Amino acid sequence: MKPAAIIRIQGVEKTYDMGEVQVRALRGVNLEILEGDYVAIMGPSGSGKSTLLNLLGCLDRPTAGSYHLGDEDVSQMNDDELSEVRGRKIGFIFQSYNLIHQLSLIENIQVPLFYQGLDTPKNSQRCEQLAGLVGLADRLDHRPNQLSGGQQQRVAVARSLVNDPLMILADEPTGNLDSKTGQEILDLTDRLNQNGKTIILVTHDPNTAARARRVVHMKDGLIDRIVVNERGELPRAETTAAVTALEEEAGQAHSTWRRALRPLQAMQVGTKSLLLHKLRSVLTMLGIIFGVCSVIAMLAIGEGASYEAQEKIKKMGSANIIIRAVKPPEDTKANTSTSGRGSVIEYGLTYKDVSRIESTIPGIRHVLPMRLIRENVRFFRNEVSGQVVGTHPIYKDISGLDTLRGRFISDVDDVHQNNICAISSGLARRLFPYQDPLDQEVKIGAHYYQVVGLVRETSTEEKRPQSGEVISQPLDNNVYIPLSAARSRFGETLIRRSAGSQEQERVQLHQITVQFADTASVETAVPQIEALLNRFHTKRDFELIVPLQLLRQAEETKRLFNIVLGSIAAISLLVGGIGIMNIMLATVTERTREIGVRRALGARKRDITVQFLVETLVLALGGGCIGVIIGIAVPFAVTQMAGMKTIVTLWSVVIAFGISAAIGVVFGLYPAKAAAALDPIEALRHE
Ligand code: ADP
Ligand code: MG
Repeated sequence: MKPAAIIRIQGVEKTYDMGEVQVRALRGVNLEILEGDYVAIMGPSGSGKSTLLNLLGCLDRPTAGSYHLGDEDVSQMNDDELSEVRGRKIGFIFQSYNLIHQLSLIENIQVPLFYQGLDTPKNSQRCEQLAGLVGLADRLDHRPNQLSGGQQQRVAVARSLVNDPLMILADEPTGNLDSKTGQEILDLTDRLNQNGKTIILVTHDPNTAARARRVVHMKDGLIDRIVVNERGELPRAETTAAVTALEEEAGQAHSTWRRALRPLQAMQVGTKSLLLHKLRSVLTMLGIIFGVCSVIAMLAIGEGASYEAQEKIKKMGSANIIIRAVKPPEDTKANTSTSGRGSVIEYGLTYKDVSRIESTIPGIRHVLPMRLIRENVRFFRNEVSGQVVGTHPIYKDISGLDTLRGRFISDVDDVHQNNICAISSGLARRLFPYQDPLDQEVKIGAHYYQVVGLVRETSTEEKRPQSGEVISQPLDNNVYIPLSAARSRFGETLIRRSAGSQEQERVQLHQITVQFADTASVETAVPQIEALLNRFHTKRDFELIVPLQLLRQAEETKRLFNIVLGSIAAISLLVGGIGIMNIMLATVTERTREIGVRRALGARKRDITVQFLVETLVLALGGGCIGVIIGIAVPFAVTQMAGMKTIVTLWSVVIAFGISAAIGVVFGLYPAKAAAALDPIEALRHE
C-alpha cells in the first residue's frame, strides 16, 4: 500500500508586498510529500527555499494556492489554528539552533509540550530519553551557552521530536557547524527518517542532499526539477526506538488545572529571565519600590502623628471647652497699677467668670476652675519645685487622673479649706525617696499640707515631651490642693513676679474647664461664652480652646496631608510604571528571536502576551513587595530612633501593593501586545 501524502500543495504563490515593488517569492508551486519521505530542497539563494519551508511549517500562509497537511487545509487557518498545527504536527530545526538561552537543556526540549499543555511527568521522562537519544543525557541542566554548536543543534533535534510531529523541517541545519559535527547531525536525521519520520531540509550542500530520497531543485520561485535518489522503500512510521510514546491524552481534568498553573510557570520563566539581568531588574523596580515604600511610610508617619494629636485632643474631652488665661499684648495695659516697685498687670479669669458661665450658659454639666501656683514643695530638708494646682474634686474625672493610693481632694476638703494635698507620683518619688508619702506633712509656701493621696495622669506611660501649645504641662510634678485653700492661703489673686523685669502679674484663675452634657451643646456655647467674657473683660486676656473643633481641624489636616501624599506617591508610581514599560519594550526587542522561536514551537499570541505580562507583573510585584517591606521598616526605624508614633495601616499596604500590581498590568500590556503582534518569521530572522 502506498503511504499517504502528508503534504499536498497546489499552485502555491507567495508575494511579498513591499509597497512599490511586489516580490514574488513563490510563483505557483505544486508538491506532494509522502509520509516517511526525506526531501532536500536546493537552489540558488533567493530562489524561495526558505519561503517554501516557512509555508510548509505553517509559519506563514500562501498568498494563493492550497496547502493540505494530512487532511487539514491549512491555507485557510487563522493564527491560533496555525500555532496549534505547528505545536502538534511540526518539528523545527533551525540553522542557528535557536535555543532559549535562559532555559536549561531539558527545559528547552520541553518548550513545545508546554504550549500543548502536555508537560506531564511522563512526558518529561520522554524529554530526558530524547536528550539521551541525541547523546546529551548527562547535560540536562546545562544552559545553551555552556554547550558547543553541535550539542546545541542536537538539543534542537531532540526538541523537534518531543511533540512526535508528522514531519521535521530543517532550514540549513548544518550551515553553522563544521563538517564533522554537521555529519553527526545528519546521521541523526538519517536515523530519524529510518524510524519513519518525514524530513524536509533546505541545504546548499550536494552531499547533504545526497542523503535524501528526493531533491527538489528550486529556481525563481518555482520547482525546477525533482531528482529521486535510490534509497529503497519508504520506512514505516513508528515511534523512535527507546523513547516513550508522547502521552497525548493527559486527561482533560489534568489539563484544566495545568492551564490554571500556566501563569505560575510563566512567572517562573519570567523570574528566570529577570534574574539574568539582576542589576537591570533592580534598577527598573526602584521606581515602584520608592513609590510603594513612600506611600506606606509617609502614611504611617502621618497616621501616627495625627493619632497622637487626636489622642491629646480627645483627652481634653470633646464635650469640653477650655478657657485659658493669657497675658494680654503689651500695649493694652489698661489695668496696670503701681504697687511698690514696678507695675502690676492684672489679667486672666475670675471667680465671677465662673459663676456667670454657670448661670447663663445652657447645657453645662460642670464648670471646673483651676489656679496654678509655681511654688516649691518641701519635706524636711528636701525641696523640689512643683506646680500647685488649686481646683475642685471633679478635676480628677474631667482631666483623667488615676488615684494610685489614698484619695483625691474631696468636697469636704473644698468646703472646709482643708490643708491637704494629693501629689503626683513623679513628684512623690523626688520628694520622698525613702519614706511613704501618705499622711506626711509637706510645706508649700507658708503652710503645711497633709498628703492624702498619690495620683497619676491616666496616660503618663508616654513621658516624652509634649509638643503643641494646646496641651497642658506634664502633670508629674503637680500638687493638687482644694481651690478654696489655694484662695485663702495664697490670696484672692496670685501675684507673680515675672523673671528679669519689674513687672508683676496678678491672676485669679488660670483655667476654666466647662464640661457639657453632650457635644451638640459645645458649638452653640462657644460664641455665647465668647460674648459673655468679652462683655466683662476689657482686654483680650483669655482664649477658648475647643477640642471638638481642634479634632475636626486635625481630621481635615490629615485629609489634606493624605491627598498631598497620595499625589506624590501616584507620581512616583507613574514614573516607576513608565520605567518598567520602557525596560519591557527593550526586553521585547532584545528577545524578538526568542519570541519567534516560541511561536514556531506552538505558542499562540495569547501565550506570548501572558508571558510578557507576567514578567512585567513579576517586576512590579517584586518591587511592590520590597517596597512594602521597606515601607514597614522605615516607620519602625523612625519610631525607634526619633520616638515618633507611627501607624502602618493595612489599607495603605493593600493599596500600595494593589497599585503596583495594576501598574504591572497597565504598563505591561502594551509591550506584551507588541511582543505577541510580532510576525513569527520576521522574529525568527531577527538578529
Ligand atoms: P532562499 O531561502 O531560497 O534564499 P527566500 O525564500 O528567503 O530565498 O526568499 C525568496 C525571495 O523572497 C527573495 O527574493 C527574498 O528577497 C524575498 N523575501 C523573502 N522574505 C521576504 C520578506 N519578508 N519580505 C520581502 N521579501 C522577502
Ligand atoms: Mg533561505
